[in-house]
Amino acid sequence: HPRPTKPPLKILLCSPRGFCAGVVRAIDAVERALAKFGPPVYVRHEIVHNRYVVESLKAKGAVFVEELDEIPNTNAPVIFSAHGVAKAVSAAAAGRGLLAIDATCPLVTKVHREAEIHWRRGRRVLLVGHSGHPEVVGTMGQLPEGAVVLVESVEDIGRLKLDDETNLAYVTQTTLSLDDSQEIVSALMRRFPKIIGPHKEDICYATTNRQAAVKEVAPHVQAVIVVGSPNSSNSQRLREVAERAGAPAQLVQGRGEIDWEIFGSISSLGITAGASAPEVLVEEIMDAFAERYDIVVETISSADENVSFPLPKELRAIA
Ligand code: SF4
Repeated sequence: HPRPTKPPLKILLCSPRGFCAGVVRAIDAVERALAKFGPPVYVRHEIVHNRYVVESLKAKGAVFVEELDEIPNTNAPVIFSAHGVAKAVSAAAAGRGLLAIDATCPLVTKVHREAEIHWRRGRRVLLVGHSGHPEVVGTMGQLPEGAVVLVESVEDIGRLKLDDETNLAYVTQTTLSLDDSQEIVSALMRRFPKIIGPHKEDICYATTNRQAAVKEVAPHVQAVIVVGSPNSSNSQRLREVAERAGAPAQLVQGRGEIDWEIFGSISSLGITAGASAPEVLVEEIMDAFAERYDIVVETISSADENVSFPLPKELRAIA
């Protein structure tokens, strides 16, 4: 039988995309803990913001909770997610004698320590970030209640009322939009010229590289797919960056969510994936397109990454 001809589709695959070093480490930590202690291993909050990852770890014996009080008294370990936790959470775990394993990304921990140093030096700390995101909750929780002021937008800066405007410092969430955060930081510096910032910005290498890659690809394609979960901050930012660069973009968790109204009649497509999205989902999306289109795939690489982090110390020495 002659095969029905499919329309051609050129796919530009963004590189880097997908897993960052902090996510690899956090997932490894859960898997190593399962191997070392056996199930159940408790995990506070989604270890990384991806449904597929969470479901796979659940199937292996990880039990996800939002707060420590959902964990019975047990000698099973509890792992803190890559997003980091407030000091009160670590203290509560120690108070209950839980075996806590901290999978906070080292690049988030670095921001925690910066905030703490500013505070010890008598500076008021402003945090640029998104209200309610667990990383923001964790960073604010490094200092006493009320010590950190959250800034979400340029408009917020106009509304700030601080007793001492001369002794200020700022830190940021690691997964912000680079363009938005530059605007916010410039506005902060205009209003508070003496404000002290990080030596090197707090937005991490993975966020920076993934945004740069999609920014490069988006102008050359008719639409962009970002593989990632809706609660993943860096994935949402990738979608925004693509749209601002002129390509309609959709964030999808898997092939079932692809909106064929948008993606059913195109001839060029960009694909990227958030830092918490596994490559198997990218492959699944490409398969879905290959069923409808005659695809040609080209990887557009805008940076090389070779970052990796050692496991949390409780898991390093395994015979
Ligand atoms: Fe760490 Fe950046 Fe990955 Fe977050 S996105 S886990 S800060 S490397």
